[in-house]
Amino acid sequence: MATAIHCGTLIDGNGGDSLRNAVVVIEDGVITAVNAAGEMPPGADVIDASGLTVMPGMIDCHVHLMSSPPRTMEQRLQTPFSLQVGEALKNARTTLEHGFTTLRDAGGTPRGVKAAIEQGLFPGPRLRIAVSAISQTGGHGDATMPNGLRMRVPNAELPENLVDGPEGARKATREILRAGADQIKIMTSGGVLSPNDEPAATGMTPDEIAAVVYEAHAAHKTVMSHAQARQGILNAVVAGVESIEHGIYLDDEVIDEMLKRGTFLVATLIAPVSVLRLAEEKPGSMPEYGVRKSKEVLVAHQASFKHAVERGVRIAMGTDTGVGVHGTNAGELELMVQQGMTPMQVIVATTKTAAECCTIAKSTGTIEAGKRADILAVAGDPLSDISVLTRKESFRLIMKDGKAFKNDLGAPSTQS
Ligand SMILES: [Zn+2]
Repeated sequence: MATAIHCGTLIDGNGGDSLRNAVVVIEDGVITAVNAAGEMPPGADVIDASGLTVMPGMIDCHVHLMSSPPRTMEQRLQTPFSLQVGEALKNARTTLEHGFTTLRDAGGTPRGVKAAIEQGLFPGPRLRIAVSAISQTGGHGDATMPNGLRMRVPNAELPENLVDGPEGARKATREILRAGADQIKIMTSGGVLSPNDEPAATGMTPDEIAAVVYEAHAAHKTVMSHAQARQGILNAVVAGVESIEHGIYLDDEVIDEMLKRGTFLVATLIAPVSVLRLAEEKPGSMPEYGVRKSKEVLVAHQASFKHAVERGVRIAMGTDTGVGVHGTNAGELELMVQQGMTPMQVIVATTKTAAECCTIAKSTGTIEAGKRADILAVAGDPLSDISVLTRKESFRLIMKDGKAFKNDLGAPSTQS
């Protein structure tokens, strides 16, 4: 039985002009036709979204579902791993409620969370997980505190992430692939929320990065690099990493290399903003070093992003949510508009380009025949006001794989 969505305005994710009164036809979870002239397939169940904007489900290329802020250090120490798994499933549901049908998890989430959603045990977005994020000793992924306590302890499902030397990097990559990673995450610079390094510090050596990239590519997986320092970004790009996360200190030479290779930038503009917001809202929920470093990077981060946009770097939307509160992901879209992108460019970055970055563009990211039916119907016009997408109540229909997770539009009526 076909389902047909009668769209008021259709934004298909490709970035062209939106369509009026188009009809999207869905069968067995797949979009089978987009009828621009509005013809209804006979016998279809019709969902009336004629007063709404219909667009692809949103995709966030950088989240951490296992992290549930705001939380003090004491509260983090009191949270068992198994409770974190339960929280991750709740965070996944929350993010789906806010219009995100796919998430790329950038580290910390074990494959059981993804499997629980895939098996229909819990509702949530489609997940692409990085499992453990590889770091050098003392780098951004080393959560050893000055008193010697390690905040993140490896286990069978989240293998050891601290490596030194190319053979260590190779072994960790293989173990993480074995643990179910969809892509490999590495840390090629210091960061904001790490106790032992600075954002402008280079992380990992070129031969360590090369070993990771070789093993990931051998398994037909991509590599995403947390990279804030200029040299850390450059090392990752030259080594063939597919996406730069954060990209705080970009310059023209680095951008030239990104353009040459088609490297994605996943800027996560909202991450330092969220650190500062939560530090104010819940004192003690952000370490002092995180607040200091967020203030230090804020201006350079926004300037780098703006520069990358102007030079035509491929921008894929990502937020680092898990630093900020789950469900606030679309705040990134407002920041992207503030830094010079048009709302349509931002929507493309959050749908089509994000799907490309997650290597799932064959199956999702746009509303076109042959794609999975990941579809939103939104009250309001995100092309004139992107903030529409930040509000949960805007989403009247949230469909993933052709199944309505939320449908305020009433039972479909049958077209005779
Ligand atoms: Zn992150």
